[in-house]
Parts: sequence; C-alpha cells; structure tokens
Amino acid sequence: MRKKIVAGNWKMNTTVSEGVALAKAVAEKAAGLNNGAGIIVAPPFTHLVSVAEALKGSKVGLSAQNCADHTKGAYTGEVAVDMLVDAGCAWTILGHSERRQYYGETDEKLVEKVRLALDGGLGVILCVGENLDEREAGRHFDVVKAQTENVLFNFSAEDMKKIVIAYEPVWAIGTGKTATAEQAEEIHAYIRKVLADHFGKKVAEDMTILYGGSCKPSNAKELFAQKDIDGGLIGGASLKADDFIGIALAF
Ligand code: PEP
Repeated sequence: MRKKIVAGNWKMNTTVSEGVALAKAVAEKAAGLNNGAGIIVAPPFTHLVSVAEALKGSKVGLSAQNCADHTKGAYTGEVAVDMLVDAGCAWTILGHSERRQYYGETDEKLVEKVRLALDGGLGVILCVGENLDEREAGRHFDVVKAQTENVLFNFSAEDMKKIVIAYEPVWAIGTGKTATAEQAEEIHAYIRKVLADHFGKKVAEDMTILYGGSCKPSNAKELFAQKDIDGGLIGGASLKADDFIGIALAF
C-alpha cells in the first residue's frame, strides 16, 4: 500500500524556541487529521532533540535535512546517522537541490548517504528534479531518470520500502512557480515507470512519490488528485502550521 505523506522542510529557518512552538502547533492540528496522511517535519539539526520532545505522543514524524557520509570520527561540522536516530529522527531528507547546488552533493555521494541512513534505521526522502535550463532544453525526463537510476539502482527492492522519492523541479522551489498538475503527474508517472522497469511493478506501485515546489493549500488539492502524486515535500508553506496542515487536508 502506498503511503500518503506531507513533509515539511524547514531549511535554515526558525530559532529553537520558534521551532518548538511550530512543532507543537503542527502536532496539535495533525491530531485532527483523519485522512491517512503521514506528517513529517524536518527542522535544522540544532532543533532536533527539543522538537522530538515536543512531538512526543503525536502522530508527527521527525526528519533531518541531511546526514553525514561517514559513521563517526574526524569530520568537522557533520552529523552522523546514529546521532540523528539518538536525537529522535525516523527520517532524513537527502539530495535536496540546495545540497546538490550549493554543497556539491553528487549522486555518488548520495549512494553512500542513503546506504548509511538505511543501515542506521532511518527512512530516506530522496529528492530529484531538473533545473530551469534542463527543463527548457527538454531534458527533464532524462535528468530525473539519471538521478533516480544513479542512486536507487544501487539498492534492493527491500530497501525501497524505506525510501520515498520527492520530485522537486528546481525552477519551482521557493519561486512561487508551481509545476502544473499535468507537468508534475507526467514526471511522477515516468519515475514510477523507471522504477517498474528495474524493480518490477509491485515495488513501483508501492513507492511513495512526493511533489515539491511552491506547494500551498490552494494548489495542493489539484496536485494530490493526480494518480501518481502521493503527497508533498513542502518548504516555505511548512513554516506556518495552518498552511502546512492545510496542505495535508488537501488529500
Ligand atoms: C523545498 O525546498 O523542498 C520546497 C519544496 O520549497 P518550497 O515549497 O518553498 O518551494
């Protein structure tokens, strides 16, 4: 059975106390949700322990925004999977376009990180998506296919049960420009086909594929109504509990 998920990527926003207040507000509103949507929040590293405490007993899951590519040791500034699990995380986002663009995260590096995350017991939200030049050159299918294959084809069908894909066209992230429901659906369906060709139909059918890019309460309904869109990875709108849960209500 495919899971429906709405995940909030807070990026580098909020202080710890603001984050705890936001998490509490999300947890309170999520308690009233009964449409089967899984809710996840991904605060900055510094917030994780306090937000985990704030979410205790709620139905909101906790995610990191990234993890280290090593298990421990002399890697200044990095945070290992074990530390994230210990802090209360059940998930990590990996391969967000901001990490790929500003921190040189490659598909090869992502294979290592996904492996460490899964081995350490974290679920993974793996982001893929084309930039504006690639979209305008008509290369969006090829780019997304390559990102999907380069990372996920190193894993087993069993591993895929702990992975969620987020299709995030880079030109739609934080720009206010949402992909149309048709544009998003055709890529989601294509990703599912790429998975089916390699892993078989069952794995592809069970895969949760989220859309991300200027998703908000006003456009979530049309996006989530598409056959292959199973929810959203939400940036800006996840910083307001009403908007974030408003998106989750769109199923
Ligand atoms: C994101 O960065 O994952 C994202 C989807 O951002 P926004 O919703 O702000 O476009």
